[in-house]
Amino acid sequence: MPRKKREPSFDELLSSIEKMSKRQRQQLMTKIIKENGYADNRTKKFINYDLQEHMRKEGFGKVCPNCGSTIIVKAGEQENGIQRLKCTDCGHRFSYFTGTFLEKTKYSWDVWVEFIYQMILNHSLKQTVSALVEEYLCPSLSERTVFNWRMKIPEVAKEVRQPNLIGVVETDEKFIHEGQKGSLHLISPFDKNSTRKARKTAKPSKCGSMGPEFGTILCALDHTGHTI
Ligand SMILES: [Zn+2]
Repeated sequence: MPRKKREPSFDELLSSIEKMSKRQRQQLMTKIIKENGYADNRTKKFINYDLQEHMRKEGFGKVCPNCGSTIIVKAGEQENGIQRLKCTDCGHRFSYFTGTFLEKTKYSWDVWVEFIYQMILNHSLKQTVSALVEEYLCPSLSERTVFNWRMKIPEVAKEVRQPNLIGVVETDEKFIHEGQKGSLHLISPFDKNSTRKARKTAKPSKCGSMGPEFGTILCALDHTGHTI
């Protein structure tokens, strides 16, 4: 007779947490938030601790954003678990998130990683929101918020140090038609002080693809596969 699969006891479940990977623990937290229907203070702390750990490992919080000093001490914890840091030279207080786009975020590290992954996959706002709402449980997330995040990422990416290309380097350029979707005042690309009419369809430009209506993106690739 086949043995009936026994449900694990609560104690067994608890002890299995120790063996869980970080990813599995995150999934467990996500499940608990979903069951509760909200993120309580402890969950928020957990999210912030996890985010903070990533920031610390990436080397944030080592330099005072005010005076550049590297003599930084810990100065207590906020209610939401965020560590306060203090510069011993100028007394400035800050956190591991100060000056980064994760400042004041309530979303977990995994949500951000998934969001960027969705961006790389070129998924639509709708697809991104539904993936984050369903699998990462961000019930209050709107397309507007995700749109704003998307606007932030290219700004942040500009600060990432680019690799030095070596050996044979191939370059090519790409021209992108300017767009001001969502703006009430469309600025003319020919004269910054005047406005332009809305384009109804993607009509080709009268000035070719090299005129002021186009932004140029230069791409380069070396034989090791490094790209800029
Ligand atoms: Zn300072």
